[in-house]
Amino acid sequence: MLEVSNLNAWYDESHVLHGMDFTVGEGEVVTLLGRNGAGKTTTLKSIMGLVPNRKGSVRYRGQEFISARPDVIGRAGLGFCPEERGIFASLTVHENLLLPPIVAPGGLTIAEIHDLFPNLQERARSPGTKLSGGEQQMLAIARILRTGAKLLLLDEPTEGLAPVIVQQIGRMIAEIKRRGFTVLLVEQNFRFVSQLADRHYVVEQGRIADMITAEALPGKMDDLHRRLGV
Ligand code: ATP
Repeated sequence: MLEVSNLNAWYDESHVLHGMDFTVGEGEVVTLLGRNGAGKTTTLKSIMGLVPNRKGSVRYRGQEFISARPDVIGRAGLGFCPEERGIFASLTVHENLLLPPIVAPGGLTIAEIHDLFPNLQERARSPGTKLSGGEQQMLAIARILRTGAKLLLLDEPTEGLAPVIVQQIGRMIAEIKRRGFTVLLVEQNFRFVSQLADRHYVVEQGRIADMITAEALPGKMDDLHRRLGV
């Protein structure tokens, strides 16, 4: 579904991605793991066209998007949930949900979203600012599900959240997968992703250093903890 090859990216003179190569298959949950500064966020932003200076290849469903604008990439069916979540404080939960444009058929209806996230239904009239961190994260993911995007790029969805909320987010991602969505996930929370993902890519200094399947993961735990410094 997504093929990233020889992806390079720069911020001004600073060369941050040095030939990222990886794939995400339809219906998979795939993670990018790595130390701070390894280039995980930059990879997601580069896929979405948000890093102006990038080279290589980003193919989605066979089509090349390396030179495309972010709005074109969004309309092709890629939805990005940034680390800062982007909830508008002056809008209600419901208004935040309705904000992103529908890009393709097959997105969840508001009723389906409320089914999946009962909290958001209860909070529909609350302003974005009144939400807890976990509710904001759920809202940020929910509104992408509504747009019809089929590939979700999630940047550290569990960051700063309490363990019980992290579990909720995990159940939600599992349910999203069950419904046929594909997820590329950047995470530091290793325990969280180890139960969730089909495959893991280890990112080191702007490159893929290793690929680990869910089956191979138990045997690689020590090695991974050392590499990730966790
Ligand atoms: P983290 O978990 O800390 O976000 P990461 O693996 O996602 O880590 P990136 O955020 O992609 O890493 O950062 C990769 C490198 O690019 C780092 O050295 C970082 O300092 C640098 N960088 C990130 N954003 C910018 C920016 N807007 N301008 C300049 N340099 C940046």
